[in-house]
Amino acid sequence: MIPSTLKDKISLDLDKETRATLTEQVLLRANAYHEDTRATRITTQQSRKELQEVISSLIHHPKHDPSQSLQDLLQAFESGCLHNSHPRYLGLFTPRVPFVAALSEFIKAVYNPNLGSWGHAPFAVESESVLIKEVGEKFGYTRESVDGIFTSGGAEGNLNGLLCGLASRYEAFRKEGLAQIGKQPVLYCSVESHHSIVKAARMVGIGQNAIRIIPTDDRQRMDATLLEAQIVDDLTDGLDPFMLISTAGTTGSGAIDPIELNHQIARKFELWHHVDAAYGGALIFHEKLRKQLAGIAKSDSISFDLHKWPASPVGTNMFLTSHPTVLHELYAVQAGYMPDESVEGVDPYTHSPKWSRRYIGLSFLTMLAIYGWDGYEEIIQRQWQVGKYLKRKLEEADWLIVNETELPLICFTHPKIENEPNKVQEIADRMVKSGRAWISTYEINGQLTFRACITNYATDEEDIQNLLSILHEQLNQLI
Ligand SMILES: *Cc1c(COP(=O)(O)O)cnc(C)c1O
Repeated sequence: MIPSTLKDKISLDLDKETRATLTEQVLLRANAYHEDTRATRITTQQSRKELQEVISSLIHHPKHDPSQSLQDLLQAFESGCLHNSHPRYLGLFTPRVPFVAALSEFIKAVYNPNLGSWGHAPFAVESESVLIKEVGEKFGYTRESVDGIFTSGGAEGNLNGLLCGLASRYEAFRKEGLAQIGKQPVLYCSVESHHSIVKAARMVGIGQNAIRIIPTDDRQRMDATLLEAQIVDDLTDGLDPFMLISTAGTTGSGAIDPIELNHQIARKFELWHHVDAAYGGALIFHEKLRKQLAGIAKSDSISFDLHKWPASPVGTNMFLTSHPTVLHELYAVQAGYMPDESVEGVDPYTHSPKWSRRYIGLSFLTMLAIYGWDGYEEIIQRQWQVGKYLKRKLEEADWLIVNETELPLICFTHPKIENEPNKVQEIADRMVKSGRAWISTYEINGQLTFRACITNYATDEEDIQNLLSILHEQLNQLI
């Protein structure tokens, strides 16, 4: 028998009425937030100390009225947020999440499936595997060859790419390890590529000096001629080139490396060609814009963030490979404590570094079930158009566009402050502080520019006009 003190003390399941009240309370709040996101300040005014005090009071003064506690928690959370759901957050790829995708996070938590093995979550594992096939095909892989796994983000996707590159190149890697390779493996990416590659090189044990950083052209795209020259030099020096990473949509300025050209070089020197399509991969959902990614179908692996442009909640990335056995070779183990309910080669724990895993793909499945692929095409189309609109409005008002990309990411400056990086930074800082809009800065060809990215499907023309007014207001204060 459960001791009565334990039984009476706390009911984690609550009663049916309380559950209904709490659900309504949270969903109403979420609904209102979704409706009125524009009314919130984007950035919080609370200091670290204030936040710590609020958090501490939540922890140290528990209220046994769950409704009150949830209310306090929601209130504290909301006022301490940076509201990247706000349509005038023109920032670092973190999207607003469609309401149904947000609801799917709640549904997931209620059932709490563990996708470690097929048998523990048959529907969930099967659905992720179907989604991997479908998206792999959209990238141009054949249905038979495509394999992959949902991961937590682009950084994990790139780490997987590096591991697959090593495992496929070096027979000794899996059992004897790097020490037995006998040569220094080196990999190539551009100076504009994402720094998660640096971390991945440290993590896999080849060290960050194994990364050869290739310069870019005046549009921030990897210079394929310099790439080839560097490979030749490295071979002459006795190093062992094993991998090339192209970026489809750089974080700083949205540049797309020459994927097709890079592919030919990768073939010539037998390099694993990984495409970091964390941001730009979303173009694949758009019938016309997808040609920007020409050549990606021939790559060996792809990292694609669903939690950027496609607006899934943070923690949703897809790692894809056109080598159907590489993940299994890399990760398969036999563990006596795992239930004998597996489907050979399908269990995610034999397929990725994770063991227990969340149902990462559910928000994507939910979106598809409701909006279909057309829904994604619309998201891409809309943000692409708003990006064009921003560009046009800036040009009409004499701002200078500094980058050149088909992605809705615009780097710009103004002739009056073009050579004054302090003023550019000051304007961006003031804007962020005002809480009315959010942009960042990025250096291009030695020049500090404003960086505005349409990361939000709800951003509209009025938001853009608003942004421009704020920019002019602040420019006029500084000149
Ligand atoms: C965002 C980004 C990453 C890192 O992805 P996370 O999802 O933040 O882990 C990697 N590469 C590029 C090009 C990115 O834009």
